[in-house]
Amino acid sequence: MSAVPVERVDDLQAYAESAAGCTRCRLAQGRTQVVFGAGNSRAELMFVGEAPGFHEDKQGLPFVGQAGKLLEKLLAGIGLERSDVYICNVLKCRPPGNRDPQPDEIEACESHLFRQIELIEPTVVATLGNFATKLLSGRPLGITRVHGQEQQTTLGGRSVVLYPLYHPAAALYTPAMLKVLESDFARLPELLGRALVPPEPELALVAEPAQPPAEQLGLF
Ligand code: SF4
Repeated sequence: MSAVPVERVDDLQAYAESAAGCTRCRLAQGRTQVVFGAGNSRAELMFVGEAPGFHEDKQGLPFVGQAGKLLEKLLAGIGLERSDVYICNVLKCRPPGNRDPQPDEIEACESHLFRQIELIEPTVVATLGNFATKLLSGRPLGITRVHGQEQQTTLGGRSVVLYPLYHPAAALYTPAMLKVLESDFARLPELLGRALVPPEPELALVAEPAQPPAEQLGLF
């Protein structure tokens, strides 16, 4: 295993500490604390949700309620744990009453997310739900149109695979959506493997046979 890039961990921590006092938008007034994000600071796979809810705001961690449990179950289904990935949200502070994020709040907060991506350097960024998907894809298409369709894009100054998924909170109450989420989720190991082949697509197609998922998961 390669040496842990200590400066990356330190930089992320330092950035989280500076963001903890952020007052760039109105959400600073009603929050208990900034919910910056949690997990492996050098994760290959990063999840981006919408905004902290009641429990997240109280505990300071993302995805700690029922949606978090479902996310953990889905991760276990592909042989991963929370500590293997990094989880955060578009907004770092809880909107009152869990209302939708406002455009000016997203605009105020997005640089925190872009900096996180820059520091973590994931190969796959899975967006959970509409807000994260629209922001990071730069396209107005809703999640029902684009879920499960990976897209190569540039985030945080590097090429990543963007992979839109239904938000676990929505799938909790809609069995049909849960089935789709499960089957989209099952492709993540393949995407992680694909993202890790050499960057030249033509060469990769010729030289690299498909790798078995077990081998890809060994990368964590
Ligand atoms: S939501 Fe984002 S921009 Fe607004 S106060 Fe919280 S951290 Fe700052």
